Amino acid sequence: NKQDIVDAKTGVGVLDISRAIIISGKKLGVVRLGYSKSEVEKVISKVSKIILVVAGFAIIITMAVSFFVINIMVRPIEQLTKAVRLFGQGGLDHKIVLKSNDEIRELADSFNETVEILDKTQTKLRRRVRDISTLLNASKELNFSQDIKNIASVILYTCKEHLNAGSAALYLLLSEEEAILSFNVASGVVGTEKNTFDTSDPLFKNLAGHKRIMLMTDLEKELGTSDSKNLGKLKELKCQILAPIIVKERVNGIMVIGPCKYEREYQEEDWEFLSALIGMANVAIENSYLHTLSITDGLTKSYLRRYFLFRLEEEVKRVQRYGGVISVLMTDLDFFKKVNDTYGHQAGDKVLKEFVQVVKSISRSTDLIARYGGEEFAIIATETSREGARVYAERIRAAVEKRDFDIGEQKIKITSSIGVASYPVDAKKLNELIARADEMLYKAKESGRNRVCLPEVVETDKPSS
Ligand code: GH3
Ligand code: MG
Ligand code: MG
Repeated sequence: NKQDIVDAKTGVGVLDISRAIIISGKKLGVVRLGYSKSEVEKVISKVSKIILVVAGFAIIITMAVSFFVINIMVRPIEQLTKAVRLFGQGGLDHKIVLKSNDEIRELADSFNETVEILDKTQTKLRRRVRDISTLLNASKELNFSQDIKNIASVILYTCKEHLNAGSAALYLLLSEEEAILSFNVASGVVGTEKNTFDTSDPLFKNLAGHKRIMLMTDLEKELGTSDSKNLGKLKELKCQILAPIIVKERVNGIMVIGPCKYEREYQEEDWEFLSALIGMANVAIENSYLHTLSITDGLTKSYLRRYFLFRLEEEVKRVQRYGGVISVLMTDLDFFKKVNDTYGHQAGDKVLKEFVQVVKSISRSTDLIARYGGEEFAIIATETSREGARVYAERIRAAVEKRDFDIGEQKIKITSSIGVASYPVDAKKLNELIARADEMLYKAKESGRNRVCLPEVVETDKPSS
């Protein structure tokens, strides 16, 4: 019945389906199909709730999936992109750390590995550049110098500073005859000056055999059973690395390198640098020896006449340019022929050697002593006035006169005559200066020998009162 299913309050029909149930033509009753509005609203509200819950879940799931996707996929890619950008700008210290275990992680790992290799290569290259620039600077300094002391200092300090060595010392062969390595320069070790190294020690045979830089521990192993006295000296010098300076199969020097500062161990790169530096040192020291040989008189170890003239010219030019004074002393041994005739030529040679030693012992390091002729020696006294030169010459004359010259089986007495001239007061040119000093020597001989003669002081030379 239609009315039955009309909402009582509103009068609106909710569902208007009603059917009679007829079986075998007999109406058995009526089936009413329908819901009241309240029932429908109930259902609608239920369905709405369900929809809301489902929608809420859907949003949460979507967010969770998005979060997951962002975390798993997008963020690593972002990190990767950022790292690649930084890498492109030269930043090699940026690593990608991913927790995932997928292809992106593999990509990030291989990126990290590549960056690490590049970083190591870059560090190595930087070190190489630093090494080469230090070697270049050292080579410039070494090329400019033929003075062995200067060369030794350049080598020692370059090595010590560059390797951050706590200490280093350099010993060089100074006298061929004595075959002893003498202290030259050191830094960071005390009491080294007294040490010398006898080159006949087994240590040097070992070094000459290896011809390379040695670790002290290896040397100790190899020489432990031998009677090397030098190992103890090396230990005193806190030696950790021993770098031999070898010229033509012979050990001409050793550089003793102590432990590294900052508790760092020496590395392969340090060895490569040291080898290169020692290679340069070998050449520089050999050149210096050759240069010294070319300007030194073999017998007396004073300079040769050629070098004296070269240096005198330089000094005269310097005085012309910057002012100042220099003096020249011409010395000649008195009656030297008699020494040769009486005691033999060898005795005469010994006297000449000792004479130079005596002169050197009372001279300044800036004075230059040269063998001008047989037993005639010329001396350049830089920054020395005529009066200063007179005192210096008198000191030489007196020291020679006082000396007992050792000629082997006996000692003999000798005297010397000295002529002095100064630049610019006694001469205006180099040749004049030498000629004036020679004249004064002649005058000293003429006036009785064993004396010092200077040119007469002319009025203009006297200081104005
Ligand atoms: P004076 O006082 O006049 O100088 O007399 P002197 O005998 O020294 O005369 P002079 O200077 O002319 O003689 C030089 C001598 O020096 C001649 C030579 O026998 C000697 N002499 C030169 N060179 C050498 C050398 O290398 N060794 C030795 N033993 N003697 C030398
Ligand atoms: Mg003489
Ligand atoms: Mg002479």
